[in-house]
Amino acid sequence: MESNLKINIIGGGIIGCIQAIELNKLGHQVTIYEKDTIGSGSSIYGAGILFPLLPNYYSSEVFDLIDNSKKYYLELSDILNSQFDIDIEYLRSGMTVILDDLRDIEFWLRENKLSFSREKFRSFNAITIDDVYQINPKKLILGLKKYLDYLGVQILEYNLISTDLKNNFIDINGKKIPGDKFILASGAWTRDLDHDMRDKIFPVRGQLIEYKNTNHIQLDHILYKDGFYLLQRKNGALIAGSTLENVGFDDNLTDQDLELLKKNAEKIIPELSELEVINHWCGFRPGSKDNIPIIVQDKKIKEKFYNVGHYRYGISMAPASVNKLISLF
Ligand SMILES: Cc1cc2nc3c(=O)[nH]c(=O)nc-3n(C[C@H](O)[C@H](O)[C@H](O)COP(=O)(O)OP(=O)(O)OC[C@H]3O[C@@H](n4cnc5c(N)ncnc54)[C@H](O)[C@@H]3O)c2cc1C
Repeated sequence: MESNLKINIIGGGIIGCIQAIELNKLGHQVTIYEKDTIGSGSSIYGAGILFPLLPNYYSSEVFDLIDNSKKYYLELSDILNSQFDIDIEYLRSGMTVILDDLRDIEFWLRENKLSFSREKFRSFNAITIDDVYQINPKKLILGLKKYLDYLGVQILEYNLISTDLKNNFIDINGKKIPGDKFILASGAWTRDLDHDMRDKIFPVRGQLIEYKNTNHIQLDHILYKDGFYLLQRKNGALIAGSTLENVGFDDNLTDQDLELLKKNAEKIIPELSELEVINHWCGFRPGSKDNIPIIVQDKKIKEKFYNVGHYRYGISMAPASVNKLISLF
């Protein structure tokens, strides 16, 4: 593979950041162009569960990308801790799935040789999957930013990229960007930058809330029930979510939205109703068909690549997706 190429990455979410780190390690000269700030698309708004919520619902392609990313986070967590004193809260929390009928998920777990135990959660039918990890996305982005600076990757924030009629990439100052390769890691906004992606990538709004944990509720595992989940950060904060909404890029959150999230969280742990909700936010996932990301080289413009459409599991799939893209060079 050639080295010392000038590679431009458009989008500084989790995909763009890890892509930049891995290309820098291969000896390339990498620049990230970000229209806002690093991580401010979908990536800092995620819950940080590194596993599919109902794994048997997805194709093996999705699970393989998640599974092949696991080791990377362990190593990254060590690097960010030891070199930059940032704890990304990489925890083996396990996940308890509450379901009336557990047969399909049990079958899938056996097929994939993943260990689990069948145990009731309170009065609910449930299984706990052991090998499920979580991280804190805000801290992850903070750590990645430091790591990128340390490696000397150029980060150009507040730099909205567009294209001209000849398909050149143009920066915020109207200048044509020089480079050997261009990687679109532009999340849900890819459809604005690239007409070919108009029908393939779409924003899916997701909302989360944070409860102030004054009652010191302790979760043993991530909890999942009826499409909603609860998890705990290292400082005890309880995070509940999430919604799946096709509302474009509308970021207005209403009292009804809040009530929906609270109702579903409190169906799992009723005592949460005694706690105050201190944060309520949303992010725009890069939706794609069947949650399968598009990691390809453009058919017509050979220097253009896509690493987009990671939908619900972009944090979980990022490292393996980045490697898959590099294998196309
Ligand atoms: C509520 C919620 C919960 C989630 N929970 C999880 C979870 O538990 N586990 C998990 O794995 N995933 C989770 N996700 C999904 C995950 O956040 C996304 O899949 C992932 O962040 C996508 O990363 P990305 O880098 O592709 O996109 P983004 O993070 O959106 O990054 C794309 C970046 O490109 C920039 N950009 C776009 N267009 C341009 C342009 N023209 N010029 C310059 N810059 C541009 C944007 O500003 C943005 O910063 C969750 C998402 C939400 C919203």
